[in-house]
Amino acid sequence: MGNPVTYQFNLPADSAPENVQLHEEWYPGIIPYALTASAMRSVDPILGVRAVVIHATAGSSSSGAVSVIKSGTASFHWLVPDENEAAHGVAAWATCHEARRAWHVRNSASHPDVYHGENRVNDYSLGIEIVNTCEPNDPYSQWQVEQTAEIVRYCWEKYPNLKYIVSHAKLDPTRRKDPGSHFPWDQFREMVLDASRIRRNDPAYEVARATQNAAKIKEQIIFDDPEER
Ligand SMILES: [Zn+2]
Repeated sequence: MGNPVTYQFNLPADSAPENVQLHEEWYPGIIPYALTASAMRSVDPILGVRAVVIHATAGSSSSGAVSVIKSGTASFHWLVPDENEAAHGVAAWATCHEARRAWHVRNSASHPDVYHGENRVNDYSLGIEIVNTCEPNDPYSQWQVEQTAEIVRYCWEKYPNLKYIVSHAKLDPTRRKDPGSHFPWDQFREMVLDASRIRRNDPAYEVARATQNAAKIKEQIIFDDPEER
């Protein structure tokens, strides 16, 4: 068992992976809600991304997790489904545009180890939620850990200044314990950093990813607004 308030590792400079094949799909119907429950970043949406925050939903379903986006109270960029869901083993859910500032860490929360202790972490981070009750009797599936690592590797390739991979618990230890003591942080870190783990080259996924990225860029151009929400 690990201590979630210690979970962090930093990505080494100049060794980002190439051609990471991220299997993701938009959560059905979520885009209009995601746009309401997010805002423009105050930093460059590519160069300003410094951190990925790892969360657990403290629930047992993807639909429960996205309800906070639908109610406009919180948001995050990806959701990794639970093992009893159809999407498990297939794809992560995209739940907010990467270019936008999602609401997954309190504005006042920060840690000196993460981007020099800057607060307003949402401005410079991406958030991944994993469907898990956050209790030790609900183990993470191997695929959930692998998929979370794959998202981080995808981000590492895409965002040149990304460095800090950290738990929500470390950023906000008095209020949060996610992703929990039972999350296999050391194994996760090795999956992210192991250069041999690049997935098999599947031309179908290459095409799908290029199409998805084009669609996302278009949405960002259409929907990014100048107002802070
Ligand atoms: Zn969290």
